[in-house]
Amino acid sequence: MGQIFELIADQALETLDSYYTECHICERENLDLYTYQGKYVMKNGEIDDDLYALCEECIKNKAVSHICDFQYIKTIKGYLESENLGEKEKEILKQQLTDKYQKTPDIPIFLQYTDRPLCCKDITEFKGYPKDNPDLYQKTGSFIYWEKKTIANKPEAYNFKNTGPPESLREVATFHCKHCNKNYFTFQF
Ligand SMILES: [Zn+2]
Ligand SMILES: [Zn+2]
Repeated sequence: MGQIFELIADQALETLDSYYTECHICERENLDLYTYQGKYVMKNGEIDDDLYALCEECIKNKAVSHICDFQYIKTIKGYLESENLGEKEKEILKQQLTDKYQKTPDIPIFLQYTDRPLCCKDITEFKGYPKDNPDLYQKTGSFIYWEKKTIANKPEAYNFKNTGPPESLREVATFHCKHCNKNYFTFQF
């Protein structure tokens, strides 16, 4: 479990480069900034929807939400529907998981839509991208392929050993469930 963000392993956490100098909410400089495309409700009730670089504190403590968050909230709902849960538990979990998601920066960058795998009634932790082709073949060969929900068979096109690696290894993101130790991967290009 990440020490800074629960859903991102520390070694997979990336700060923004020096092009970004201050947090878009608190405007402090000289601190680690993380990519977060979203909006937040200011004290006067106005909405600032032009966020890109935020510090840890603002991500965790301000009322921030991701751009297009409805997409992933729908995925959370769909996942919880497929679990055998009572109405009340489902509602509580949906709120908890949505909060966790909103308090996590956009790491990894999903090229199409946010799709952190869900497992054991929780969101899995991002562990990083494959570091080289052998690592890619090993992980995508043994990890569970995830696309909005677990599907039994990964598309043959994602057997990278046969088809060759994707254009960038960063198109493949790996995740780990801390409850059952299952590993997942997503592939978006
Ligand atoms: Zn800040
Ligand atoms: Zn699990």
